[in-house]
Amino acid sequence: MVRTRLSQPDAVIVGSGPNGLAAAITLAREGFKVTVLEAADEPGGGTRTFADPDVPGLLHDHCSAVHPLGAGSPFLRTLPLAAYGLEWCHAEVAAAHPLDDGSAAVLRRDLAATIEGLGADGPTWDRLVGAAARRFDALGDDLLGPIVSVPRHPLATARGGVPAALPASVTVRSFTTEAASGLFGGLAAHAVTRLDAPLSSAVGLLLAAAGHLYDWPVAKGGSQAIWKAMVALLEDLGGEVVTGHRVRSFADIPRTRVALFDTTPTGLAWILGDHLPERERRRAERWRYGPAAAKVDFAVRGEVPWTAPEGRIAGTLHLGGTFDEIAAAEASAVGGVLSDRPFTLVAQPHVADPSREVDGHVPLWAYAHVPHGCTQDVTPLIEAQIERFAPGFGDRVVARHVTTPADFEAANPNLVGGDITGGASLPTQLLARPRLSPDPYRTSVPGVWLCSSSTPPGGGVHGMCGHHAARSALKVLTA
Ligand SMILES: Cc1cc2nc3c(=O)[nH]c(=O)nc-3n(C[C@H](O)[C@H](O)[C@H](O)COP(=O)(O)OP(=O)(O)OC[C@H]3O[C@@H](n4cnc5c(N)ncnc54)[C@H](O)[C@@H]3O)c2cc1C
Repeated sequence: MVRTRLSQPDAVIVGSGPNGLAAAITLAREGFKVTVLEAADEPGGGTRTFADPDVPGLLHDHCSAVHPLGAGSPFLRTLPLAAYGLEWCHAEVAAAHPLDDGSAAVLRRDLAATIEGLGADGPTWDRLVGAAARRFDALGDDLLGPIVSVPRHPLATARGGVPAALPASVTVRSFTTEAASGLFGGLAAHAVTRLDAPLSSAVGLLLAAAGHLYDWPVAKGGSQAIWKAMVALLEDLGGEVVTGHRVRSFADIPRTRVALFDTTPTGLAWILGDHLPERERRRAERWRYGPAAAKVDFAVRGEVPWTAPEGRIAGTLHLGGTFDEIAAAEASAVGGVLSDRPFTLVAQPHVADPSREVDGHVPLWAYAHVPHGCTQDVTPLIEAQIERFAPGFGDRVVARHVTTPADFEAANPNLVGGDITGGASLPTQLLARPRLSPDPYRTSVPGVWLCSSSTPPGGGVHGMCGHHAARSALKVLTA
C-alpha cells in the first residue's frame, strides 16, 4: 500500500530520475495531480550525490557530474530552477584531452579559442562542430526528440544529420592532427559504442556543440542540486515524491488515469507482467544492454598533478590517448573484453565549483568503459590511466570509493549490468528507441508510457525523454 498525500492522483510516475521528474513537472504545470514513486530512499536517480565516509564534508556525484545537456536542455531551460537553488558553475576549460607528449587538446566554450587552439585542424572543427553549434537552438527540439517525428527545422536538421549519421571513424578522417582526432574520439566515446558504428559521430558532435553554446558546467554543491530544485518545483506545483517504494507490479501503483515509467523496457515488462501484449513483451526481451561503467571516486589531497597545464583548469578530462587507441578500447568493451587501457572519463568539479574543496581535499570522479557486467577490479587500470597523464597522482589519494557495474545496478535497477545509457547504443536501438514511431513513449497498454533514457533522445541529464512522454500523456489527460 502506498502512503500518498494525494487521494487519487491524475498521474503516477514510477522513478524519480531527471526524466521522471521532468515528466512529473510537465504534467503538474498543466494543473494535474502527480505522484512520483521512487525505489531508493532519496529521489534523483542519476543525479544523486553522496558524502565521502572518510573525508567529512567532501561530496561525490554518484552518476552524472557534468551537464552540457542539462544546461542546454530545451525543457530544463524553461523551468525556474535557479529560484530553487540550481546554479551552474563553469571551469575555464570545458574538456581537456591530454596526450602522451604532455600536450592537451582543449574544448572551450569559446568556439574561436577552440579553433585557434586546434591549429591546422581549427577550420575543420569550425566546419563540423561550429556549424552544429550555430544550428543547435534550431536543432534542439528535433535532435532531442523522437527520430521519426516531422522536423520543425527540416533544413537545419538535414544538414546537421549527415555528419551525425557517419561513424566517428569516418568523420575523424577530416582531421589531420593527433590532437583534434583524439579530442573528437573522446567526445564520440560518450556514446559507449564502437566508433566505427553508424551514428557514432552524433553524440560527439552534440556534446561539442552544446559545449560551445552552454559550456560543460557542474551544479553548485553537486548534481543533487538538480533533483533538489526539480523536486521543490514539483512540490510547489502540488506534486509529491514518495521514496522507498519500489514498484514490482501494477498492484503497487495507486489508482490513476495515466502511469509513466522512468524504467528500462525490461523493467516495465517485468512490472506489467500479463498486462503486456505478447508482441511488446518479445520486443522488451530483445532490448540489448551495452558496456558498463566501473567507477572510482577519489578523495585527493591538493590538486591532481596533470602534466598538461590545461588539465588543471579543465572541468572534464578524457583519458584514452589517440583516436585509434580509444576506438580499440571501446571495441573491446563492446566485445566483452576488458582493455588494459580502458577509455576513462574524469571530472574535477572543484575546478568549476570551489565550494567542493574541503580542507585542502578535492573529489575526483573517474569511470572507465568496461564490458557489460564486468566483475574484475578496474581500480588499478583507472589509476594507471590517470598516472599516465598526471604522474604522482597516487601519492595524493587519501581515499577511494569503488562502484562496480553490479553496485550501480543494485543502487538503480535502470543501470542493467552497469549500462549507463538505458540500452546499448546500437544503430537500431538509437533509431527505434524502443520502437520506431513518432510517439515511441506510448505503449500498447492503455494509460501506460515509458519515459526513461531508453526513449529518445537517450542518455544524459536533460529531462527531454520525460518531457516528451508527458506531452504524449497530456493528449489523453486533456481529451
Ligand atoms: C557513472 C555515470 C556517469 C554519468 N555521467 C553523466 C554526466 O556527467 N552527465 C550527464 O548528463 N549524464 C551522465 N550520466 C547519465 C545520466 O545519469 C542518465 O542518463 C540519467 O540519469 C537518466 O535519467 P532517467 O531519469 O532516465 O533515469 P535514472 O536517472 O536512472 O532514474 C531512474 C530512477 O527510477 C527509479 N526506479 C527504477 N525502477 C523503479 C521501480 N520499479 N520502482 C520505483 N523506482 C524505480 C530508480 O531508482 C531511479 O531513481 C551518467 C550515468 C552514470 C551511471
